[in-house]
Amino acid sequence: MNQTKIGIDAGGTLVKVAYRESSSIVYQTFPSQAIYDAVSWLNDSFLNPIVCITGGKSQLLAEKLTAPAKTIVEFDATNRGVHFLAGQQRDAIENNFMFVNIGTGTSIHYAKDMEQQRVGGTGIGGGTLMGLAYLLTGLWDYERIVQLASNGDRGNVDLKVKDIFEGALPPISGELTASNFGKKESMMARNPSESDILAAIIGMIGEVIVTVSSQMAFQHNVGSIIYFGSSLRSNPLLRDIIKEYTRLAGKEPVFLKNGEYSGAVGALLSLD
Ligand code: ADP
Ligand code: MG
Repeated sequence: MNQTKIGIDAGGTLVKVAYRESSSIVYQTFPSQAIYDAVSWLNDSFLNPIVCITGGKSQLLAEKLTAPAKTIVEFDATNRGVHFLAGQQRDAIENNFMFVNIGTGTSIHYAKDMEQQRVGGTGIGGGTLMGLAYLLTGLWDYERIVQLASNGDRGNVDLKVKDIFEGALPPISGELTASNFGKKESMMARNPSESDILAAIIGMIGEVIVTVSSQMAFQHNVGSIIYFGSSLRSNPLLRDIIKEYTRLAGKEPVFLKNGEYSGAVGALLSLD
């Protein structure tokens, strides 16, 4: 029997696993906090696998596996995975584009001729959602947070341009956010719901990420921005905000199917 090839991306929050079964790739996720669950599953499920690990916790994980594992640089693994997953999609991506990994934090890259360069990032990412959601609502379960957020009304928390202009004609779209969490007076009159607060957190995260990413896209003169990372999982609100704001900036947003596994897929491909 052939040895199974396994690519792993051990990140700050989640361990992402991609392995080959027949001709397809199978995906699996574990919380990084419960790294022993990932270790037991890997040790028990595969006999003498060939393993490549990337991500911030790659050393930590490699030391705990029974099978020997090689480790590779995360940005290169992610770049390889992004090109592979984008190639599987109908979206024709150009030779050069930005890719934005929205993980615990956010990393922004310029890709050209199959190579990548990390051009920036922001600490605003999926970890920010988890931390602020906990501080402001006491909630800590990801699925619950994103589900509640989808029913929220940011209008009860965020100040829009039109709120400031109060009917007068603003010089920019009145629908734009003038100040995230800026609707203090109205919040003092009536507390926003948990859903409203969660939606506003996601809104702020999405807007900051697009603002920074689209600036980078202008600097590098590229038209498309590929967004991925587990922070987009079950999170249509974040996707919609990113889509809308990226188009507003005159750039084309692209979302990758299974994009949160880019690093793991890149690690897997490096074994071929
Ligand atoms: P990293 O590589 O830094 O671990 P990921 O790309 O895996 O980052 O994204 C982590 C983010 O994904 C979390 O901060 C959270 O917003 C979101 N997320 C999605 N699913 C889960 C989950 N089951 N548990 C915790 N966070 C999750
Ligand atoms: Mg990551």
